[in-house]
Amino acid sequence: MSRRLPFFLLYHEGYYLPLGAHVFPAQKYRLIHERLLEDGIAGDEDFLRPEPAKDQDILLVHGHDYVERLHTGMITPQEEMQMEVPYSPELVEAFWLAAGGSILATTHALKDGVCFNIGGGFHHACPDHGEGFCVIHDVAVAIRRAQLDGLVKNVMVVDCDVHHGNGTATIFPPRRTTSAPLPSGYMVQRDPSASSSGSVFTISLHQQHNYPAYKPPSSIDVNLPDGATDAEYLAWLDNALSSGLRQFTPDLLCYIAGADPYKEDQLGGLALTIEGLKQRDRKLFQVALAKGIPVMVTYAGGYARHVEDTVTIHCNTVIAAKEITAETQRRGGQIEQFGN
Ligand SMILES: [Zn+2]
Repeated sequence: MSRRLPFFLLYHEGYYLPLGAHVFPAQKYRLIHERLLEDGIAGDEDFLRPEPAKDQDILLVHGHDYVERLHTGMITPQEEMQMEVPYSPELVEAFWLAAGGSILATTHALKDGVCFNIGGGFHHACPDHGEGFCVIHDVAVAIRRAQLDGLVKNVMVVDCDVHHGNGTATIFPPRRTTSAPLPSGYMVQRDPSASSSGSVFTISLHQQHNYPAYKPPSSIDVNLPDGATDAEYLAWLDNALSSGLRQFTPDLLCYIAGADPYKEDQLGGLALTIEGLKQRDRKLFQVALAKGIPVMVTYAGGYARHVEDTVTIHCNTVIAAKEITAETQRRGGQIEQFGN
């Protein structure tokens, strides 16, 4: 069997989140896996199975106390309420596996130019607590691990979930300097957080009047108004990417490709169409791959009234990456330099 995709997709049946009756469609990862195979977008040989992250990786981001309490079940009712998912040992395993997926996806993205974790993107998780269906911040763990291994120095996170990436902004705070307010509540904070191992520049495009109530500053925050359309969204994404890449040159871009800016989303209030969301994905890959920046993709939220729509939106991100990879190669772009 030959490969159908020029990059790998990471999937494990253990990504299923044991939530009981819940607005989060816990089965979406399995449905995406099935749809990609059924529609011939990917073959079995395009998938890799991740291992769970090791505790030492999780501890690069999360506090020892919190990790210990997750392992021993000493999570308080208040903490469980803030997580908004029911605690169980199986839930903890699923989050360790998602983090392992993002770690592996990062190494493959650096080799192939693109890699998908068909899971992850738990951008509300903070160092010492879980929030908003997110227990462990898989993307932050993967970034810290890749920096520690010397695979990357500078990383950009582009978060297109409809909800603000408050965990990401907490873990990688931009240095507080004079911010430059631009129209539509668009804020730029210069000088992202820097350490000896490298810097992380964070961009969040989100609905302003939505969860979380408190939004710690990202390097660039685009606070979108309720009901923002495809055209408005794409213009702001373009603007934020151009601005970010003028200020910062990443070795890796972590794309948090939430499906919840969709107009039919139950937890979102924007008005993007399925086609508009695919244009969003295409824009992201066009900009990154034209500059030779590898992209690691995670899926984050998606709560469409019909779960099939969430699945379609997430599968379209794979299709967009495939299309743009091919277009970039045709134009003699820089894809081939990955893996050197
Ligand atoms: Zn979300």
